[in-house]
Amino acid sequence: MRKPIVAGNWKMNKTVAEAVDLVAGLKRGLGEIGEVDVVLCPPFTALKAVGEEISGTQIDLGAQNMHWEKSGAYTGEIAAEMLRELYCHYVILGHSERRQYFHETDEIVNRKVHAALESYLRPIVCVGESLEEREAGREKEVVEKQLRGSLAGIEKGRWIDVIIAYEPVWAIGTGRTATPQQAQEMHAFIRGVLREMVDAGVAAAVRIQYGGSIKPENAAELFGQADIDGGLVGGASLKAVSFVEIVKAALRPAAGGAV
Ligand code: PEP
Repeated sequence: MRKPIVAGNWKMNKTVAEAVDLVAGLKRGLGEIGEVDVVLCPPFTALKAVGEEISGTQIDLGAQNMHWEKSGAYTGEIAAEMLRELYCHYVILGHSERRQYFHETDEIVNRKVHAALESYLRPIVCVGESLEEREAGREKEVVEKQLRGSLAGIEKGRWIDVIIAYEPVWAIGTGRTATPQQAQEMHAFIRGVLREMVDAGVAAAVRIQYGGSIKPENAAELFGQADIDGGLVGGASLKAVSFVEIVKAALRPAAGGAV
C-alpha cells in the first residue's frame, strides 16, 4: 500500500518569525496524522527554525533545492549534507520554476537526484508539461522524456525513496487545476513509464504526487484517484487552515500495491 504524502512548497516566502508562526498553526490543526506523510519545505533560511518547531512531531522537513556536488566553489549553493545536518529528509528537485528561471535540465536534475540519494535525502522530483505542449498533444512525450532523463541510473533498491510530483506547468500558481481525470491519466502513464524503466513492482510502489493549484475544495477528488498519492502544494501551503484541510483530504485508504 502506498502511504499518501503531502508536501508544502513555501517557495521564497516566510521570514523565520512567520515560518514559526505558521508551524504553530499547523501543529494545532494537524494533531496526530500518522496515515499521511506531511513534509514542509520552507526556504533555506527557515529550515533550522522549522526543524526545531516540528521536532517530536510526525511532520518532516524538506528543502526546495540543492547542488549536486558535496562542497566547493559554488557561490550561493547548498549541498545535501548541509541539509541533512538540519534534519532534512526530503528535497524538491527539478521544480518547473527551477527548470524555467534557472535553466535546470534533466541532466542537472539527474545529478541532483543521485547526490540526494547518496546522502539519504528523499528526492521529490517534479515533471510536467507546459500549456503549449499540452495544447499540441505532446504532454506524455514531454513527461516521459523528463522522467527518463531525471531518473536515469537509479539502483532498483533506491526507488522506494523517490517521490515523483506531476505538476502541469499551466496549473502551477494559476488557479487552474488539472481535472482529476487529466491528472489520473498522466499518473497512470507515469507508472507505465516506470514499468518500462524498472519493473512492475517499482511502478506500483513509487509515490506520485499531483501539484498545481491544489486547494481544500479540489484536494479530496484529486487524492481519490487510484494513482494519485497526495500532493505538492504551493500557494495553499502558506496558510495553516488550507494546508491542514488538504492534508486531511489525503486521509484515505492508499491505492496500489507494494514492491
Ligand atoms: C508548486 O509550486 O509546486 C505548486 C503546485 O504551486 P501552487 O499550488 O501554488 O500551484
